[in-house]
Amino acid sequence: MTSPVVIITGASRGIGAASAKLFAENGYAVCVNYLSNHEAATKVVNEIRESGGIAIAVQADVSNENDVERLFKTVDNELGQLAVLVNNAAILQPQMRFEMMSLERIERTLIKNIASTMLCSQQAIKRMSTSHNGNGGCIVNVSSGASRTGSPNEYIDYAASKGAIDTFTKGLALEVAAEGIRVNCVRPGLIYTDMHADGGEAQRVDRLKSKLPLQRGGLPSEVAEAIYWSASDKSSFSTANFIDVSGGL
Ligand code: NAP
Repeated sequence: MTSPVVIITGASRGIGAASAKLFAENGYAVCVNYLSNHEAATKVVNEIRESGGIAIAVQADVSNENDVERLFKTVDNELGQLAVLVNNAAILQPQMRFEMMSLERIERTLIKNIASTMLCSQQAIKRMSTSHNGNGGCIVNVSSGASRTGSPNEYIDYAASKGAIDTFTKGLALEVAAEGIRVNCVRPGLIYTDMHADGGEAQRVDRLKSKLPLQRGGLPSEVAEAIYWSASDKSSFSTANFIDVSGGL
């Protein structure tokens, strides 16, 4: 029997890397997409292969249309028919008040976080939808608790980009529901990853964790479980569904 195939964008580090390992443990052939950290992506792939799994690393900027086409064609050729897409890659830029943000920064946030998810979803639908002769599949979008809090005084642009991911999830789920594709969304909050350093505060989770009802930061592996469940047959009656993995916030 051939392994089901998953593409996880931004899987060289953090939540994406934890998800790649979990899908591999469950028998998936995994495409570990990354932007520039070849060493980190190779480490994830090697770990999966050493455990007997199937994985490839594919560099592609998922906000670039040509790169996205190349990413999906590489997976067609090297792994086979796509079953799951996890739209995980995103960026965070330094904390600042909203009126200080340049148009260049705002555009970068919106393109890297929203257009990337949309471009990858287009390619996935063309392969999965029964209206394109596909066998169906699942798309899991990784949003953020920021879509609900708005991230005042930190990064409203990022929060707004995640609000767009929530709305996109809802609309796309309903548009393709009758074509064998489920689209769900996982919203993490305060997870120990490198992303907070990009926002200018590497220790942010430790500063804020006491404000969470669960009184601690989360692990990438805890988010990966929700992503995996959303893509698995165990969630077969769920679409346009949102799971918050954010310690009760
Ligand atoms: P992370 O540790 O900063 O890792 C980001 C990953 O995305 C890396 O693998 C990076 O590749 C890749 N990447 C970034 N831009 C890309 C692009 N344009 N094309 C392809 N790959 C790209 O991030 P994380 O904290 O695990 O976050 C994962 C997801 O969870 C994001 O959607 C984030 O918004 C969301 N989230 C995180 C938290 C949290 O507390 N950490 C909270 C809420 C939501 P390289 O290694 O090559 O740079």
